[in-house]
Amino acid sequence: MTHHPYPHLFSPIAIGNKQIKNRIISTGHDTCLPTNDLVNDDLVAYHEARASGGCGLIVLQVSGVHETARYTSHLLMANDDACIKGYRRLADMCHSYGTHVFGQLFHPGREIMETAGGMQPVAYSASAVPSERFHQMPRAMSLGLIDEVIQGYANAAYRMQAAGLDGVEIVASHGYLPAQFLSPRTNRRQDKYGHKPLLFLQEILDAVRLKTGPEFIIGLRLSEHERDPNGLQSEETMQAAILLEPKLDYISITAGTSNTAAGAIHIAPPMTTEHAYLACASARFKQQLNIPVIAAGRINQPQMAEQILATGQADLCGMTRALICDPKMPNKAQLGNNDTIRACIGCNQACIGHFHKGVPISCIQYPETGRELTYSNQPMAATPKRVMVIGGGPAGMKAAQTAAQRGHTVSLYEASPRLGGQALLAQLIPQRAEFGGLVTNLEQELRSLKVTIHLNTPMNKALAISEAPEAIIVATGAKPYWPDFERSGTMQVADAWQILQDEVSVGKNVLIADWRSDWIGMGVAEKLALQGCNVTLAVNGLYAGEMLQSYVRDSIAGRLHTLGVRIVPYARLFGCDDDTVYMQHSITDAAMLFEQTDTLALSLGHERVDGLIEQLKGIAPIHPIGDCLAPRTAEEAVLDGLQIGFEL
Ligand code: SF4
Repeated sequence: MTHHPYPHLFSPIAIGNKQIKNRIISTGHDTCLPTNDLVNDDLVAYHEARASGGCGLIVLQVSGVHETARYTSHLLMANDDACIKGYRRLADMCHSYGTHVFGQLFHPGREIMETAGGMQPVAYSASAVPSERFHQMPRAMSLGLIDEVIQGYANAAYRMQAAGLDGVEIVASHGYLPAQFLSPRTNRRQDKYGHKPLLFLQEILDAVRLKTGPEFIIGLRLSEHERDPNGLQSEETMQAAILLEPKLDYISITAGTSNTAAGAIHIAPPMTTEHAYLACASARFKQQLNIPVIAAGRINQPQMAEQILATGQADLCGMTRALICDPKMPNKAQLGNNDTIRACIGCNQACIGHFHKGVPISCIQYPETGRELTYSNQPMAATPKRVMVIGGGPAGMKAAQTAAQRGHTVSLYEASPRLGGQALLAQLIPQRAEFGGLVTNLEQELRSLKVTIHLNTPMNKALAISEAPEAIIVATGAKPYWPDFERSGTMQVADAWQILQDEVSVGKNVLIADWRSDWIGMGVAEKLALQGCNVTLAVNGLYAGEMLQSYVRDSIAGRLHTLGVRIVPYARLFGCDDDTVYMQHSITDAAMLFEQTDTLALSLGHERVDGLIEQLKGIAPIHPIGDCLAPRTAEEAVLDGLQIGFEL
C-alpha cells in the first residue's frame, strides 16, 4: 500500500450525523455574485468549481435572517421562502460531488458597510454603542425586535433545511450582532439580555434547534479574540464556547472584528500575517471542547493543513482563499500532484478586495474564479496556431499558459534572464516576498504545458519573421514614469524601481512623491525607514494606500506609523532644487515645502513599453496586453492574458 502524503487531510470526519469526506473547508465568504438577494447561476457555478475540485465541506456566504441584516446591497437573504429554490440548487449540486454544504445565518447588528440606495442605514445593536470602522450609531434593539430577529434565525434555518442544506452556522464571529450581545463593552442593556450576555445566542440556538429538529447540524463561528481593545477577549470567547457546546455540533474558530480597522485585518489576513497563525488558538478550543473544531487563517497549502490536523490543533481546516485561488487544490493534493497547486499569496486584491468594491469575487492569480460561466470550460482551439508571446511578466505568462492549454504552440520570449516582470520587483517590497509566488505558480504551469521559453532574448523584427508566428502577443510591460517637473540643483532623484533593486544609495532624508497611492510608495517608505532614513511619504491622493485593499493598506499603515514615517496627503509634485522639494496642495495649489531633503524618490506610476508593436506590424495579428496595453496592476495583466489566450 502506498503511503499517502496527507493521511489526516483526506480522512473522513463526522459532524453531527454527517460524514464529511475530507478536512478541507471553504468557509463562509461574500462573493458579490448573488443578485436580488438570491442564489443565481453565477453562484452555483462558483461553488461547483470548488465542489468538483474535491472540497469536503462548503459553508455558504452569509444569509441575512431579517430585513435589518442587510450589511451590503448584495448579500443573500433567507428571510423569505423565495430563497429555498436557490439553496436547493446549491445543495443538489454539492451533493452530486459528495461535498456537504451548510448555510450561514447572519445579522451584522451595527456593522453595516453600505446600503442599496447609498443612504445611512437605521442600524441596530444590543445597545447604542457606535461602530468605529463604519461610523454607524445603532439603536438599541427593543425586546420585540430581539424576538423577531431570533425567530428570523430559526425560520432561515428551517428554509435551509427544507432546501436540503446539511446544516447551518451561526455567525457570532467578527463583532457581528451575536458578538455585540456577548461583549459587555457593546451590550450595556439593563434587561435580561444585559444581565446574561450569553442569553441572546442561547435563545437563537434553542429556536433554531426547535425549528429544525434534533438531527440538523448547527455550528457556531467565533472570533477567538477580536483584536480590538473594546472587543471580545480570549477568556470571554472560551467561556462562551464551553457554555454553548451542548447546543452545538461544531465550532469554527477565527479572529478579529469588523468594528475596527485593526480587527478587520483578521477577516482576511493579508500576506503580512503568518501562515496558519490561528492554529494555536484553535488548539486551545480543542483542549476544552469535544465537538469538532475548525481552524482558519492563512492555511494556504495542504501540507500546512496536514500538519495542523496531525498535531491535533484542529479537526478541519478552513482553506477558503486557497480554494479561491485553486479550486482543484483538494483533488490535486489527493493525487499527489502538489507541484501543480497554485498557492494563494494573501494579496487580498481580487477576493476580499472585490467584495469591498462591490464587484464579483475573483483571484489575481486565477481570474477564472468568479467568472466560471465564461471560463470554466476552455475548449481546445479549432485551428491550433503558432503563438509568439513577447514579455514574460504576469500578462505574458498567463496568455502563454491559456493559449498552450487550448492546444496552440506557444513560444515565450523574455529579454531579461528571468520570468516575472514587475512581480519580481513587487516581491522586493518589505513583507511582500510571497508575491513572487505568482511567478512560481505560472512558471510551473508553463513548464507542465511544455511552452518553449526563451530567456535573455530581446525580440526584433528579424527574429519575429524567422519564427513565422500566426499570432503575436506583446506583453512588454511598462517602465517608471518620470514626468516633467521643475528640477534645478543637485538633489538626488531616483525612481521606486531603482530603490527597490538597490541600484542607488539614497540620502538620510528622503521625500517620496507618491501618485500611485498603492504598495509601491508605502513599500519604498517602509524599506527606507527600515534602513534608517527619515522618510516623508507625500501622497497625491486622500491618504497613503488609497488604491489598496483596506486590510493590506491598514497593515502597512500601522507599520509605517511604528517606523515614524511622516505621511502628507494632497501633495502634488512641483519641483526640487539642491535640498528642497516643492509640492502643491492638490486642492488649494498652495506651496508645500519639504526642506533639508537629500533624495526625492518617485513613485509616480508607469508608462507603456510598446515599441515592438510598430516594429512587428504586418508579420501577424498583434495583441498588446497587460501594462503594454495600459499600465495597471498584476490583476488586470493576468486577466488580459486569460482573455487573449481564450480568444485565440
Ligand atoms: Fe489569494 Fe490574492 Fe487570490 Fe485572494 S486574490 S485568493 S489573496 S491570491
